[in-house]
Amino acid sequence: MNIFWNMNQRWHTLKAEKAAEDAKTKANDTNFHLIRLEERLNHLALKCQALWELVKEQTQLTDLQIAERISEIDMRDGVADRKITQGRRKCSDCGRAVGPGYTQCLFCGAPMNGAEIFEP
Ligand SMILES: [Zn+2]
Repeated sequence: MNIFWNMNQRWHTLKAEKAAEDAKTKANDTNFHLIRLEERLNHLALKCQALWELVKEQTQLTDLQIAERISEIDMRDGVADRKITQGRRKCSDCGRAVGPGYTQCLFCGAPMNGAEIFEP
C-alpha cells in the first residue's frame, strides 16, 4: 500500500514541477514581449516628441492646442480614457455612429474626423 501512495505522491510532484516549469517559461515569454512593447512605446514617444517639436517650430500651434486636440480625439468614442479607440466614431454633423475605415458619414455624407491613415 505504501508503494502506491509513494508512486501517487511522486506523480503529483512531477506534475507540479512540470506546471511550475511551464509557468516559468510563460512568464519569461511574457517578460520578453513586455520589454519589446516598452521599446516600441519609447520609440513611438520619441518620434511623437520630434514631430511635435518640428510642428511647433514651423507653425504657430501651441501645447494647449495639441492638448485640446488630444482630448477631442480621446472623446471621439464618447469616453475620456486617454485611449484612442479603433471603432465606431460619432459623425460631427448628424451624430450617428459610423464604423472605422469610413472617410465619410454613411448617413449624411459629412467627412469623418479621424486618422484613418493610422488605423490598421
Ligand atoms: Zn453624419
